[in-house]
Amino acid sequence: MRKVGSKEKIRQFLIAHVGQVVSSIQLRDAAGKGVSEWARRVRELREDEGWPILTNNDSTKLKPGEYLLEHLPTKSKNVTFTRSISAKLRAEVLDRNGFTCQMCGLTPGDIDPDTGRKVRLHIGHIKDKSLGGKDELSNLRALCSSCNQGAKNVTGEKPTAIWLLSQIRRAGLDEQRAVYEWLLKKFG
Ligand SMILES: [Zn+2]
Repeated sequence: MRKVGSKEKIRQFLIAHVGQVVSSIQLRDAAGKGVSEWARRVRELREDEGWPILTNNDSTKLKPGEYLLEHLPTKSKNVTFTRSISAKLRAEVLDRNGFTCQMCGLTPGDIDPDTGRKVRLHIGHIKDKSLGGKDELSNLRALCSSCNQGAKNVTGEKPTAIWLLSQIRRAGLDEQRAVYEWLLKKFG
């Protein structure tokens, strides 16, 4: 008997639910594997195979953890996403964004408090390719894995100074010291 891989299972699940909003829990169940497996497969379909799978980063109608296969992928849309971005352009995006996730602010080396894993950055499209977004500097940004999958409940809005200060004031001394050391390193 042929073993059906988790990617194939997700592929079939999404095709069966085209045009319908599905949740990360449904996708995880469809993949039938480890917790992180489904997310990687969805990303591969989006980025490597150009499937028009929308997340809350692409559409305000979607909540974090919700996904929508807009329409069936056509052959012509079967273009590679990430690989169409040159190494030079990748480096420019990461440099411009200060090697920081533009949604949640985590940076490689940090441990993502939501997943307990080391942060990895990806190049994400601000306007999704399936919606006509281009592979150019102005349409690209650095995102961590969780944010790239629309799995985090954060808005794209930048925090204000007064909000930041209020959070620092209510943090513990050790946390405040860590912020102080980070600021020292950044601004000397
Ligand atoms: Zn992030």
